[in-house]
Amino acid sequence: MTHTDAAAALSVWVALESPTSHPAGVNGMMDLVAQEVAGLPISVERIAGRDGLGDMVALRAGLDNGQPSVALMSHLDTVHPVGTSAKELPVRIEGDRLYGPGVYDMKGGAWLALQAFKDVAKAGTAKRPMVFLFTPDEEIGSPTSRGLIEEIGRGSAAVLVTEPARLGGKIVTARKGVGRFDVRLEGRPAHAGSRHADGRSAIREAAHQILAIEGMTDYTRGITTSVALIGGGTAANVIPQHAWFSVDCRVTTLADGVMMENRILSLKAHDPDVTIRVTGGMNRPPYEKSTAVAALFEVARGVAAGIGLDLQDCPMTGGGSDGNFTAALGVPTLDGLGIDGDGAHTLQEHALISSIAPRRALIKGLLETV
Ligand SMILES: [Zn+2]
Repeated sequence: MTHTDAAAALSVWVALESPTSHPAGVNGMMDLVAQEVAGLPISVERIAGRDGLGDMVALRAGLDNGQPSVALMSHLDTVHPVGTSAKELPVRIEGDRLYGPGVYDMKGGAWLALQAFKDVAKAGTAKRPMVFLFTPDEEIGSPTSRGLIEEIGRGSAAVLVTEPARLGGKIVTARKGVGRFDVRLEGRPAHAGSRHADGRSAIREAAHQILAIEGMTDYTRGITTSVALIGGGTAANVIPQHAWFSVDCRVTTLADGVMMENRILSLKAHDPDVTIRVTGGMNRPPYEKSTAVAALFEVARGVAAGIGLDLQDCPMTGGGSDGNFTAALGVPTLDGLGIDGDGAHTLQEHALISSIAPRRALIKGLLETV
């Protein structure tokens, strides 16, 4: 397959818009996966979506000897709303760059890994049973796919995740843990002119809480807290009864995750007349570079050297992925095996076409070696 053919085939995947909240689009992606493997020695299991989200597809191939498998994992949802490709981010090629919604995170990785999976299934060169799970909901924390991700992880000797490569093709061997919380405040409404003293502002209380939460950031320990969504109030002349905001929390160790969850869930209102309700918790546990992960990375380095690549990993990254779930179970996990490029989640999102062939060869080699 030439670069041009690969870019054209991947463009079809990118053009089919599939934000997490649009199950018709996500299911269209699952259809494309199933079509790709039709007629090959690959079994297709389709699991119906739930809670308003898209389906999952699990492909199985390779040896059927009851040994632990090698698992590939890709999400086919994106963060880009339907219509993005018609307006701000058209699917297009500029030199070595293929632009489009989700091309880097992570349709490029999903596509090239599927080609590698097909290559190995067709050639009959798998070292183990192989399973490839495609999921619909990674971008919102994998609420409907986590169970199957963990089940497949437990049955696997290694998990390979096709999230985007880091600058220069580095892969990922450690990720921070991620927590999400919602804070809701209820005060007492009053006319902001005539009855000001009777009011208890939910927004003023939110302001106190937000400063306290952001103050929990500790860069030396790798702990960050961010309030990035906020709402409240009804009109400019009413003391606000309601306010709400979200909290994003990142940690590097399981113990810090427990500590931060306790701190955030036990927030107390500053004003006794305002109630505070905190929901949520740590969603993705930290993915630490254990000795098992480091050993798997050395195997990957060897495979990469065989195809002329000097594979490097990057320091612990702040973004979570489904790799966090399997790594936290103690299953050796490599991530960032997807396509190289830049601009994930932005309107400059693009992938490097020249990275398709070597990454595909790397995954093929891993499926034949691990
Ligand atoms: Zn992703």
